[in-house]
Amino acid sequence: MAKSTPTVSDIHSIIESWAPGQTAWEEDNVGHLVGRKDAPVRRLLLALDLTEEIVAEARRARVQLIVTHHPVIFHPVSSVTDYDRTGRLLLQLIEEGISVVSAHTNLDFARHGVSESLALILGLGSIRILHAGEGKLEKVVVFVPKSHADVVADAMAKAGAGSLGEYDDCSFRVEGTGTFTPSSHANPYIGRAGEMERVEEVRIEMILPSWKRGGVLAAMRSVHPYEEVAYDVYDLSNPNPYYGAGTIGTLPRPLTQDAFLRHVRRKLRAAHLRFVRGRTALIERVAVCGGAGSDLVGEAVRQHADALVTADVKYHTFLDAEGCLTLVDAGHFETESVAISPLARRLKEELRRQGWVVSVQLSKYMKNPVQWL
Ligand SMILES: [Zn+2]
Repeated sequence: MAKSTPTVSDIHSIIESWAPGQTAWEEDNVGHLVGRKDAPVRRLLLALDLTEEIVAEARRARVQLIVTHHPVIFHPVSSVTDYDRTGRLLLQLIEEGISVVSAHTNLDFARHGVSESLALILGLGSIRILHAGEGKLEKVVVFVPKSHADVVADAMAKAGAGSLGEYDDCSFRVEGTGTFTPSSHANPYIGRAGEMERVEEVRIEMILPSWKRGGVLAAMRSVHPYEEVAYDVYDLSNPNPYYGAGTIGTLPRPLTQDAFLRHVRRKLRAAHLRFVRGRTALIERVAVCGGAGSDLVGEAVRQHADALVTADVKYHTFLDAEGCLTLVDAGHFETESVAISPLARRLKEELRRQGWVVSVQLSKYMKNPVQWL
């Protein structure tokens, strides 16, 4: 039975299991950024950005942890004083004993992350990651005596190996003969010291995201009967379906360009949109990317999207897209703030499932710092 109050590190682990820090951009700064790992958390607050208003809100609500999307420390900090905004925020947080965990590009790249929230709020169905990540998929091959093949594969699957899209427990198995000669100091499960042994073994292959390697190997070793386990880990260059940039899906029915633009503006509560019109009169297949997603224009076109909804689009990107893809800049705040409430909901559900008692609140002071005349 779990204790009733989690620590900052317990909550960080939950977020990490959805949006592993290893999937974040190299220059990003994500994870547990402020506070003590063992501090108990009875109340937590979620926000897109950290501002002085939100720190004051956290203090009034006696919150021990703030979870933000944008990292409170992004550029290297050389001093913590009240001369600058980051210094003031850090001083206040530390003085008040408030911790911060930030999930930024790792939440952008996660399944069920920022872009998926944006897709769902726009009513897209049949959604999937637009540009699957590369280079973070591995394969573990392990040699197991026949009697233990199922138990080893099950343990590895429970630790996160063998999932391919909507399919779990995926493995490939081939039977063969393993040989070994135990030394006089060995404590073999099968065989005797100094005698070569031949054993019917199964070669089990399972795919896994690299960030699950430690857990999968530990689970495999914990049920493998051999003293010395023979296994290989391979790097794969296959696209990784577990993380990537943007989401693509389909509207329940096609909309005219004007109706689509009004739909986006209403759903995202955007004061205005910047856009160029694409080649199709009707919009049905839509790509989205919360925050700056201009780099995905080519991929959206390649996957026959009629429109891409994102933010921070430059003039020349609009110029290139005109007549090809309906490119919509709906605002950085508008395309990302929609992810905070689903994150709060998931966190509440997971905390409840793990038996933790925590009050999870959404900040009432999230606001777009950018204004228009
Ligand atoms: Zn952002």
